[in-house]
Amino acid sequence: MTDLHRLSIRELSEGLKQAQFSSRELTEHYLKRIAKIDPKVKSYVTVTAEQALAEADAADAALKSGNAHALAGIPLAHKDIFCTQGIKTTAGSKMLDNFISPYDATVVAKAKAAGLVTLGKVNMDEFAMGSTSENSYIGATSNPWALDHVPGGSSGGSAAAVAADLAPIATGTDTGGSIRQPASFCGLTGLKPTYGRVSRFGMIAYASSLDQGGPMARSAEDCAYLMNVIAGHDAKDSTSINKEVDDYVANLNGTAVKGLRIGIPKQYFNVAGLDEDVKARVEESLKKLEDMGAILVEIDLNMTEAYVPTYYLIAPAEASSNLSRFDGVRYGYRCENPVDLMDLYKRSRSEGFGAEVQRRILIGTYALSAGYYDAYYVKAQKVRRLIQQDFLKAFENVDVIAAPSAPTTAYKIGANLSPTEMYLGDIYTLAVNLAGLPAINAPVGFDKDSLPVGLQLIGNYWSESQLLSIVHQYQQNTDWHSKRAAIAEENA
Ligand code: GLN
Repeated sequence: MTDLHRLSIRELSEGLKQAQFSSRELTEHYLKRIAKIDPKVKSYVTVTAEQALAEADAADAALKSGNAHALAGIPLAHKDIFCTQGIKTTAGSKMLDNFISPYDATVVAKAKAAGLVTLGKVNMDEFAMGSTSENSYIGATSNPWALDHVPGGSSGGSAAAVAADLAPIATGTDTGGSIRQPASFCGLTGLKPTYGRVSRFGMIAYASSLDQGGPMARSAEDCAYLMNVIAGHDAKDSTSINKEVDDYVANLNGTAVKGLRIGIPKQYFNVAGLDEDVKARVEESLKKLEDMGAILVEIDLNMTEAYVPTYYLIAPAEASSNLSRFDGVRYGYRCENPVDLMDLYKRSRSEGFGAEVQRRILIGTYALSAGYYDAYYVKAQKVRRLIQQDFLKAFENVDVIAAPSAPTTAYKIGANLSPTEMYLGDIYTLAVNLAGLPAINAPVGFDKDSLPVGLQLIGNYWSESQLLSIVHQYQQNTDWHSKRAAIAEENA
């Protein structure tokens, strides 16, 4: 079969069960595509062909025995922030260029236990800091829809790999939009779960109170399949919640949209810098949801102006603490011939970290320093609480909240936006992490340059099933999610 990469996760699962093709054939098919097409997209940092084929053979054996997991034998790619035993985990940084973890992240271990086949590790902004994937030490990844554009970030490799059909599904992480924004830029569905739903164990930390892993795929249904594997309590992550996990696949066919109250925050649609095409596509998608039975309700989210400053204070503060472990002594990069301990620390860190990571360590360290702690960090925490309360108040009156995922479509590679311009592009995603809420991106059309536009739906705590069902129903009534970039149409 030459078009195995066109099949959805459900179709792959059925095809494998019915022995229409084997996991080995499927895995070889993807490895061939990666070899032929990825040199143009540059989504993979490491391709684990040998291990993938061994995992495929094991899955085929399990499938034959008849007691395989629903996803056994299906390939996936992991963001290079998830630790993989025996395989390099770089987090896009020179600091970890040679780092091989002695253990698997829980997300990776769960995927393995379900029989998923790891194709490899995909590119990202260094330590997940960025919105373009250009901050990777390994180099930029291309957007499959326009190779001279970025795929978004920080999970840009995950998005590009799926959008070019170089993996059927991928893991990503989202600290301030890193699943939703690249999903939006690449025309994919991506879910950022409630904080605590997916284990952070073995996920290299950026800002621990905001980081959350989640699925990136073509459709809500595909995301639901991966969520069924990765969600759940983990004793190794003290912030993971011990709460029953939904069957996200079984729940997809509820009556999600009829009578659904969708909040439209006034403030969100008046943001300076909101692209006209993005606004138009998002409004059209909301009209479509209204035609399907949803009720659109105008709401206020008064804290909108505080999102960017609050996140860009709290996230760097946590990052400065988390990244202090990379000191040239215990892990990762060490400078040559240090003259003394201070020189070792200083040069290892200034040679090992890229510019954006250094900027955030400096900002975070400053914000946490003795004289400024109350004025900056404590104040930001108070504002964070107000942002959360703003959402909780809104959810008294609506079921979900709609927004663009990003004010624009993908930027050109090398556009070289200033840090402030870049940070302002995160306006629609940051508050969700500050509040710990779940949110999903769904593709809803294209701008005048044929670049994808995404709709974001923000749900109340633990509403992942509801978000997936809403998007699933939307996707059964529209076909934006099945559009493919020209490069994905190429055969290997
Ligand atoms: N773009 C945001 C940042 O640079 C969010 C990144 C993320 O979610 N990891 O911090």
